[in-house]
Amino acid sequence: TTTIGVLALQGDVREHRDALEQAGARSVPVRRPAELADVDGLVLPGGESTTIDKLLRAFDLRDPLRAMIRDGLPVYGSCAGMILLADRVLGGVHDQETLGGLDVTVRRNAFGRQVDSFDTVVDVVGVPGAPVPASFIRAPWVEEVGPGVEILGRVRTVSHDGAGDTAGKIVAVRAGSLLATSFHPEITGDARVHQLFVSIVEES
Ligand code: GLN
Repeated sequence: TTTIGVLALQGDVREHRDALEQAGARSVPVRRPAELADVDGLVLPGGESTTIDKLLRAFDLRDPLRAMIRDGLPVYGSCAGMILLADRVLGGVHDQETLGGLDVTVRRNAFGRQVDSFDTVVDVVGVPGAPVPASFIRAPWVEEVGPGVEILGRVRTVSHDGAGDTAGKIVAVRAGSLLATSFHPEITGDARVHQLFVSIVEES
């Protein structure tokens, strides 16, 4: 079976592991560099990208992960995880670094503050059937995509106090075996985004 790691430094690791298992994969938590050897793919959960960035360095995971992403490790980043995958960040704190690999510019906290968090549904290319339930929690959006990046989903027609009219904002992207969503699908009970990631891992 396919084994997918969930970076377990901060964030909702349990929910991602449950969604991966629901999607038919085996899931393992990853905290140490050696644990990366056992995974076919990796999920970067949401949380606080600045904190996860610091923890990645403290746990000596940043450099090995960067190298593995460069070498083609499939990675799915959700929310803060999307920020960590992005090559460029707007609204980051001083010194904030990412793992990179995904040729996009993301804007942190783009939809406003914590009180501006919201639930909606998003049509995601590659996920058949009904639109995906999506929880946006101080979420980023993708401001710009490079040439090799496929846009998988946009916000429908949410008018939003914290950020004005957000309809059409890019919130799901894919480049090769890298997948990223602004939102959290793992807390909705719908594992179809994880299923998409499992199939990306299996194809790669
Ligand atoms: N606002 C957070 C950040 O910038 C992301 C929030 C989340 O992952 N739910 O890292």
